[in-house]
Amino acid sequence: MIRTVLEPLARRSGADDKRPYDRRMADALVDVAWHHLDNGLVPQNGSQRTHLQVTTSLETLKGLDGAPAAELEFSLPISSKAVERLACDCSITRILLNSDSVVIDVGRAKRVISGPARKALNARDGHCVWPGCDRPASWTSGHHLVHWIHGGTSDLSNLALLCYRHHWMVHEGAWQLVRQDGGRMLTIPPTVTFGPSPRGPD
Ligand SMILES: [Zn+2]
Ligand SMILES: [Zn+2]
Repeated sequence: MIRTVLEPLARRSGADDKRPYDRRMADALVDVAWHHLDNGLVPQNGSQRTHLQVTTSLETLKGLDGAPAAELEFSLPISSKAVERLACDCSITRILLNSDSVVIDVGRAKRVISGPARKALNARDGHCVWPGCDRPASWTSGHHLVHWIHGGTSDLSNLALLCYRHHWMVHEGAWQLVRQDGGRMLTIPPTVTFGPSPRGPD
């Protein structure tokens, strides 16, 4: 049964998709999990539709080397890049801990992209905007081209629909996504650097 659900999602998302079958099935499972979470199909505490609690430290939010990983409420350690991706289109509660794991700040939960803005975004983009990808709007997240953490607005001009995999590639995979004149999206692969990386591994 689960295979029937996963297989359409696990098909290649464009000609550049070189993921082996197993990896695509695993990614599809994550897709489904997030989709359900995002639509409130997974029972949540409280009444909010989408409410993801991420526990993180100041160091992790700033992406400093050696910072402890943030934790989702179901306890998956995640990197600061993953926190940024999740915060891109989510109602999020910010909980900051100091180095002794003492809570120093609790932000309020907010829907980053409002209902009407998301409707307008769905109508404009229709599906994932990554060139060659046709994942429908219902399987995408709203992505901020300039992240709101860095001062980007939630105006339509700063938003684009991305499926789970392409959203991951932009945040954790360091691909760049640029909207050109006329609305065409340009993708720029991560810069290849030789020699020791300026940053340690996450
Ligand atoms: Zn994003
Ligand atoms: Zn996509």
